[in-house]
Amino acid sequence: MQKREVVVIGSGVAGMTASIYLKRAGIDVLVIECDAPGGQLNKSSSIENYPGFKFIDGPTLAMNIYEQVNDLNVDYLFDKVVEIKNSNDKRIVKTAKEEIECDYVILSTGRTSRMLNLENEKKYIGKGISFCALCDGNFYKDKNVIVIGGGNSAVEEALYLANICKKVIIVHRRDKLTAEEALIEGINKYDNIEILYKTNVLKYNGDDNKIESVTLDNGNTIDVDGVFIAIGYVPINNLIDVKKENGYILVDDNYETSISNIYACGDAIKKNTYQIATAIGEATNAASNIIRKIKGT
Ligand code: NAP
Repeated sequence: MQKREVVVIGSGVAGMTASIYLKRAGIDVLVIECDAPGGQLNKSSSIENYPGFKFIDGPTLAMNIYEQVNDLNVDYLFDKVVEIKNSNDKRIVKTAKEEIECDYVILSTGRTSRMLNLENEKKYIGKGISFCALCDGNFYKDKNVIVIGGGNSAVEEALYLANICKKVIIVHRRDKLTAEEALIEGINKYDNIEILYKTNVLKYNGDDNKIESVTLDNGNTIDVDGVFIAIGYVPINNLIDVKKENGYILVDDNYETSISNIYACGDAIKKNTYQIATAIGEATNAASNIIRKIKGT
């Protein structure tokens, strides 16, 4: 069994940041990731509120950070963590293939897209339903799509799709969008974006291979080629039984969870603001506190 001082689980912006600080402090760190490094960044078509960049797309920022991590020779294991076992003197991280013993764990497992949980939703994922305009938008070139939601993600998705698709309809359950003003103003530049307020999607219609229309709760059925769901996220953290609120991990001021020596940062934790900048700050704090503990400073 391999032994490490710190295992970081998840390689989004939080996990990669933590690994940079740990490695630069001379700590023996292993990052475990079951997907491409970058996490939610890989789904973001435009980032305009991260200091230092007037504009950068998410995958480019993810790749820049990953290159920095690679240049530091941070060890990676591309595998799925299935469980973390905790005892007083050690933690065992179990992946699909192996077990790793370590002193500290950082949970930076992020969140996954929330679903509407309507009938046939799972069946149509990849056959008309998508959670990522940047990944799938080109499949809907000159076609008609809807974006469900009214927050920052929904408006960002709509703005990206408006450059590709014939028509984009935002379907939002409230009477006004909750995205930030700068994003909402962007909608005015497009005459192919329409917003349906106080409206919900009730049903997906189509043959087994693709969506053809959606039925709305106002009684209308609209023809669509694609449905982009952007109704928020649910945290991913079922690896160990730390204290949570609504599924989000609770951490103290040092970013330590209810279990000693297990830390958490990024979108998996309970907090007020879910931003790249906040994830980086939390990861920096979590890593720095572990470094201080290891070095006794
Ligand atoms: P969000 O802010 O939680 O917005 C979710 C949207 O989906 C809301 O309009 C919500 O409506 C709607 N919704 C939720 N459940 C629904 C349901 N069952 N049926 C229909 N509509 C539903 O989520 P987000 O936009 O994905 O953003 C998540 C976090 O990431 C936020 O903190 C956001 O600021 C951040 N983010 C930031 C940026 C940026 O800074 N550019 C970009 C993307 C995300 P209600 O309001 O009625 O609940």
